[in-house]
Amino acid sequence: MRIIVLVKQVPNTTEVKLDPKTGNLIREGVESIVNPDDRHAIEAAVRLKQDRKGKVIVLSMGPPQAIDAISEAIGMGADEGILLADRAFAGADTWATSSTLGKAIERIGEYDLVMCGRQAIDGDTAQIGPQVADYLKLPQVTYVFDIEEIKEKSVIVKRRLEDGFERIECELPALLTVIGELNKPRYPRIDRLIDSCREKAPIKIWNAADIGVQTKDVGLEGSLTHVIKTFAPKLQRQSEMLQGDAKTSVKSLMGKLREKRLI
Ligand SMILES: Cc1cc2nc3c(=O)[nH]c(=O)nc-3n(C[C@H](O)[C@H](O)[C@H](O)COP(=O)(O)OP(=O)(O)OC[C@H]3O[C@@H](n4cnc5c(N)ncnc54)[C@H](O)[C@@H]3O)c2cc1C
Repeated sequence: MRIIVLVKQVPNTTEVKLDPKTGNLIREGVESIVNPDDRHAIEAAVRLKQDRKGKVIVLSMGPPQAIDAISEAIGMGADEGILLADRAFAGADTWATSSTLGKAIERIGEYDLVMCGRQAIDGDTAQIGPQVADYLKLPQVTYVFDIEEIKEKSVIVKRRLEDGFERIECELPALLTVIGELNKPRYPRIDRLIDSCREKAPIKIWNAADIGVQTKDVGLEGSLTHVIKTFAPKLQRQSEMLQGDAKTSVKSLMGKLREKRLI
């Protein structure tokens, strides 16, 4: 069984801080980590590989330092890693990111499952999984919290719903986006991490030419959306103290809420 896991390196924070002058993200002093949901995808892939013979290939698009995220995945038991790193990929919106990842998956060729996290903690769109599936014309199941059974030509999974769960049988090859309830990710093995640091790990770096894309179709140029301005919303709070005893204050409060059509 061949499984491709999409892994994103993200800043270790859920609090995005913006430079008020430039509107850019402040990345200095923020440690980079493997996106939390992706660690669950790696764990699931490694377990599936151990149960049935196979290979886990980790794929990431990012700057050269994203190789650390791939090394961590290899430390956890993935067999190979591919980093898509090219200046031409910079500034990609979710569409360009998904189509570039899709192209790379086509270049990898044979696979039974593509797994990724439900959502990245920085970009937060949860669009990449569904868009990659659409690009590759694969059936997809999102919000997976249990992989019950892998059959020869299908997989049975449970996906989380707001008020319960859904059990789905999906044809292979398929794409699954996973959530944290799926498993408890293992720690990377030190010897495998050391191999990665000594550049002994099987990690390839591919550029635009390697995946057969033209630079006009990737990165900022290949993006369908463009950010016009980034800013943090101003928090404006107005408070008013209600005077009088409890009965008067409650009456006055209800009047104000009605006035603002809040009740
Ligand atoms: C208009 C626009 C312009 C942008 N410009 C830039 C920019 O200049 N520089 C920049 O860094 N970002 C930029 N971004 C953000 C970038 O497009 C997103 O970070 C990226 O598309 C992933 O989306 P997400 O973070 O919402 O991932 P989600 O859809 O929330 O991620 C879901 C899952 O997809 C997989 N995944 C996501 N991203 C990757 C990846 N890169 N490699 C492998 N797997 C992945 C992971 O498994 C992840 O758990 C821009 C976004 C927009 C909309």
